[in-house]
Amino acid sequence: MKEVLLIKNGELALKGLNRRTFEDMLIKNMKHRLSSLGKFNFNVQQSTIIAEPEDEETDLDAAVEKVGKIFGIAAFSRAVACEKNFETILRKAAGYLEEDLECASTFKVEAKRSDKKFPLTSPEICNQAGGFLLERFPHLSVDVHNPDIVVNIEIRDTHAYIHGRQIKGAGGMPTGSAGRALLLISGGIDSPVAGYMMAKRGLSLSAVHFASPPYTGEKAEQKVHQLLSKVAAYSGRIGLWVVHFTEIQESIKDFCPEDIFTVIMRRMMMRVAQIIAARENAGALITGESVGQVASQTMPAIACTDKVCEIPVFRPLIGMDKDEVIDISRNKTDTFDLSILPYEDCCTVFTPKHPRTRPTLDYVERAEEAFDWKPMVEKAAETARLVVID
Ligand code: ATP
Ligand code: MG
Repeated sequence: MKEVLLIKNGELALKGLNRRTFEDMLIKNMKHRLSSLGKFNFNVQQSTIIAEPEDEETDLDAAVEKVGKIFGIAAFSRAVACEKNFETILRKAAGYLEEDLECASTFKVEAKRSDKKFPLTSPEICNQAGGFLLERFPHLSVDVHNPDIVVNIEIRDTHAYIHGRQIKGAGGMPTGSAGRALLLISGGIDSPVAGYMMAKRGLSLSAVHFASPPYTGEKAEQKVHQLLSKVAAYSGRIGLWVVHFTEIQESIKDFCPEDIFTVIMRRMMMRVAQIIAARENAGALITGESVGQVASQTMPAIACTDKVCEIPVFRPLIGMDKDEVIDISRNKTDTFDLSILPYEDCCTVFTPKHPRTRPTLDYVERAEEAFDWKPMVEKAAETARLVVID
């Protein structure tokens, strides 16, 4: 029995002439993501992508798990392919969905017939298959409005496909279709969610993490690797640049007024990040900031930060409440439990006691003149260490 995945792409269908390009990108992503499970062949039939494992022994449960995290897919189902002979189709439907049909009390049949040469029309397929299944499973009754299970029969070009339940896909646009951006990732709750949200809109991700040894330890960096690998399950491979940030932070502490430590630190991060973004061909930065969450995330502080940015900064959480972010970190990225592990981040190490919530650009710029930060920024970007997260 040959099982396949039938994949419905969501928003892709809206892209008119670009559809083909987006579809190709989605298929490329799927090939890559499924490669560890074996070879799959893909073919597109009327806006459905059929993914067929070459080897019948391929672990389809694992494939379902992976496909559920690939952006650009609205819904998919596990289906069985069979020859387009009605007797065979009926037998297959009863056999393939036997367990589900045994457990259900109501069902209905839905038929799609894109091969118009097939001798039965869709309503005829529904009627006759319904009758056959009622005889086979006498405990069942038909409910067309709210059935426990829908038996889908699709008659396509080369085969008929039978499937039950449809699985919700990850939605969004295929990773890479919108270009590449650089995620500033801390060990907190917000930035992994921000990365997930932008990858969902089709961006490939690179990442940068600022570490301040000896104030921050090996465990804090390991945590960032683990967080990113959860994000990479959705976005695909991520190149992470770990920046040694201690010298810059200590200089800020030694030379700048304490009430604007955080804003200056964020501006230094942005400067280093932009050098790395250029290296990675990334057209934007991504942060997990949200208005009003902490002192460094007030509008005036964000304005001061943005002044040093020459490329766009995407802040997908900007208008979200913390509990909305936590909901995604629990139910989508599965990063919440990791994020709350208590390892020091470079931000927490140097948090001022009384941060200024309304810094002015003039005050911040003058404060930065107190030390020669430019070579430090260049050195930090140059000596950053690359870790590939898959
Ligand atoms: P998070 O939960 O993502 O840490 P947060 O609410 O704790 O966010 P801040 O610590 O003020 O907020 O950081 C704001 C943003 O700055 C983060 O979302 C992240 O994008 C970036 N950032 C903070 N610290 C680091 C770091 N050590 N390395 C890289 N980026 C960082
Ligand atoms: Mg943080």
